Amino acid sequence: MAISKILLYYRFTPIPDPTAVMLWQRTLCESLELTGRILISRHGINGTVGGELTAVKRYIRATRAYPGFRDMEFKFSEGSAADFPRLSVKVREELVAFGAPEDLDVDENGVIGGGVHLKPEEVNELVDSRGDEVVFFDGRNAIEAGIGRFRDAVVPDVETTHDFIDEIESGKYDDLKDRPVVTYCTGGVRCEVLSALLKKRGFREVYQIDGGIVRYGETYGNDGLWEGSLYVFDRRMHMEFGDATDHNFVQFGRCIHCSGGTNTYRNCANQKCRRQVLICDDCAATRPGSHCTDCRRATSVGV
Ligand SMILES: [Zn+2]
Ligand SMILES: [Zn+2]
Repeated sequence: MAISKILLYYRFTPIPDPTAVMLWQRTLCESLELTGRILISRHGINGTVGGELTAVKRYIRATRAYPGFRDMEFKFSEGSAADFPRLSVKVREELVAFGAPEDLDVDENGVIGGGVHLKPEEVNELVDSRGDEVVFFDGRNAIEAGIGRFRDAVVPDVETTHDFIDEIESGKYDDLKDRPVVTYCTGGVRCEVLSALLKKRGFREVYQIDGGIVRYGETYGNDGLWEGSLYVFDRRMHMEFGDATDHNFVQFGRCIHCSGGTNTYRNCANQKCRRQVLICDDCAATRPGSHCTDCRRATSVGV
């Protein structure tokens, strides 16, 4: 059987004609039988595609032929086209939906005015030299942060990326404006934008992690400053960077019923809600059809 791979990549670069790039990418993927999701905006490209290894390699070569994508980094991950039901290639106002397309400026080198990129080792060096002054700032939503985060991280109260700007401008985080702030997200793309938005709003010393939590976790496993599991947007739902039974592993998530440790999200049984809630395996087995806390309160259902 042929080897299959998933490819993850993004690049911020000016794209004068996003529609032309979209049509080219769609044709390219169709010809190579790749599936997945690609977003293109006038600020760049962000994609996850899967397929046979030879096809994936040809895709990389062809995509790098576009001058703005020549230096794009491609990250291989385990998986195949079967992980994506279909191909979706779209033009959007923003690669990451902060709701502030006019707030972002890019040139050939990427985002203008973004946070300083730190390699995983440099993150630890910064904490070693500056200590508690350093603040980790979670660039993800509350569900993702519910099962893992950097040590003592600030987790903004956001349900989606769209909520970030109001949250940052609320004044809640003004005391961080003079401290070293390290933003982080799954693979780094959201922090490219978030770090620039923070700097524009008066945060003076902003950093972002090269390759995001994924690369940090690959470097340090459970022995660094990361605690818990990483939420992922595929069938796996979450992943660990080491043995979940080793003593350094921090079980971050708490079951909404028994408060026992868990990193498993399940959908609220209310079909109109379907919110993801943490329910441990034991409670899922003994209380099938569990509701989230809000729905339980609203309907006075027992589970
Ligand atoms: Zn439980
Ligand atoms: Zn609910």
